[in-house]
Amino acid sequence: MTVSIALFTQDLRLHDNPVLHAAHTASDQVVPLFVLDPGVEAAGFATPNRQAFLADCLADLDASLRRTGSRLTVRRGGTAEQTARVAAETGAATVHVAAGVSGFARRREERLLALFGDRLHVHDASVTVVPPGRITPVGRDHYAIFTPYHRAWLQTPHRTVLDAPRVIRTPSGIGSENLVVNGPFSPALPPGGEVAARARWRRWDVDEYAEAHDDLAADSTSRLSPYLHFGCLSPTELTARALRRGSTGAQAFARQLAWRDFHHQVLAARPDAAHRDYRTRDDHWHHDEHEAEAWRQGRTGYPIIDAGMRQLAHEGWMHNRARLLTASFLAKTLYLDWRIGAAHFLSLLVDGDVANNQLNWQWVAGTGTDTRPNRILNPLRQADRYDPDGSYVRRWLPELAHLPGPAVHRPWLLAPDYPDPIIAPDALTVRLRRARELD
Ligand SMILES: Cc1cc2nc3c(=O)[nH]c(=O)nc-3n(C[C@H](O)[C@H](O)[C@H](O)COP(=O)(O)OP(=O)(O)OC[C@H]3O[C@@H](n4cnc5c(N)ncnc54)[C@H](O)[C@@H]3O)c2cc1C
Repeated sequence: MTVSIALFTQDLRLHDNPVLHAAHTASDQVVPLFVLDPGVEAAGFATPNRQAFLADCLADLDASLRRTGSRLTVRRGGTAEQTARVAAETGAATVHVAAGVSGFARRREERLLALFGDRLHVHDASVTVVPPGRITPVGRDHYAIFTPYHRAWLQTPHRTVLDAPRVIRTPSGIGSENLVVNGPFSPALPPGGEVAARARWRRWDVDEYAEAHDDLAADSTSRLSPYLHFGCLSPTELTARALRRGSTGAQAFARQLAWRDFHHQVLAARPDAAHRDYRTRDDHWHHDEHEAEAWRQGRTGYPIIDAGMRQLAHEGWMHNRARLLTASFLAKTLYLDWRIGAAHFLSLLVDGDVANNQLNWQWVAGTGTDTRPNRILNPLRQADRYDPDGSYVRRWLPELAHLPGPAVHRPWLLAPDYPDPIIAPDALTVRLRRARELD
């Protein structure tokens, strides 16, 4: 009787899971294991919103495994040590785990390797479609520009999508723990887990995506990011489905999944980019805690910015266009250090992800991979364009609900009680232009 451990990390699903699939085909019995590692808490990533979502994911994974005859074992402690303990308890000879890209994931893998040696099997293309480093430009270890990366990403073969196992045999009598979560939570978090993820994917109309993804009020993007972050959905399966469908919307959606891979391969090659400028612009950031706090609370006096920040606080999620605007406002208009904004996003986002968050922040701040590092998004022009009748703003700022149409974007003319603009509308570019000597 051979026993394997399927060590779940950012792949909390049964469908198209290379780790579970390999453990299941290679052994008679499988121990599905998830470890609540205090290292995640110590690094500040175990935020209430993400822990609440994770609790849903683990309950859902356990329920799905039980339908196959198995169940999930949850342990608390260092991942490698707990895995070794479960291996000793169950007689498991091999461990299967997904390759990760963050510094934390790499250290975890090194520790597992030290304990298990060649009994550890690390599976590529679980967290991303194309493994970081698989495609590279000539003479470099990663792509720094998205467009050529995307071209190569489309041309490289993606692995075959794997079926969910129907029957999984698991040794009996293994002790398991519970994840206890403590708030405060955002009041409107999405439900976690693979079942909710697949239901969302089925309900959502990918064909509309190309047309409507930038329309703030339409709210018609997939909202799959938390499920992708925790691996409730496989990016490989979503890409295969989208490319097979082939509509303009489906292709545009697959392109966004390539963005996700792109940032992962940058972080894998440059782990320091999680905290340090990917490309320094010799910034000497402006310091003003009062301004930073007004931004966090959604009280900048620019409704389109404030609406985005209120959505983040309420849902633990924000529309991509609003992320671009709020981030540009902090890092370019206020010219505050992008790390201040990135930390606030990470404290609330359910999809908060080192690769996607830090590198998108750097992209917006002009210290990352953007080929136009000094462009500044004008919040008023962007509001007129992406929320033309003001519906998104009125949804999130009830105190302005009485202002009709696009007038809601300029409350200083009509709503005297609303906070004054934190920076004058004619001075939105001044700080960055001066600091980066653009004039
Ligand atoms: C400042 C800033 C911070 C961000 N932080 C995160 C984060 O922590 N986690 C995160 O998953 N995304 C982040 N994004 C990227 C993007 O905003 C979200 O992935 C997207 O808004 C999620 O909504 P959706 O699932 O409806 O996306 P859709 O538009 O439906 O896109 C489908 C999927 O593609 C991926 N994707 C889309 N856009 C991007 C992008 N620019 N970069 C990387 N992947 C992308 C996501 O996995 C997303 O779920 C950030 C963007 C900005 C500008």
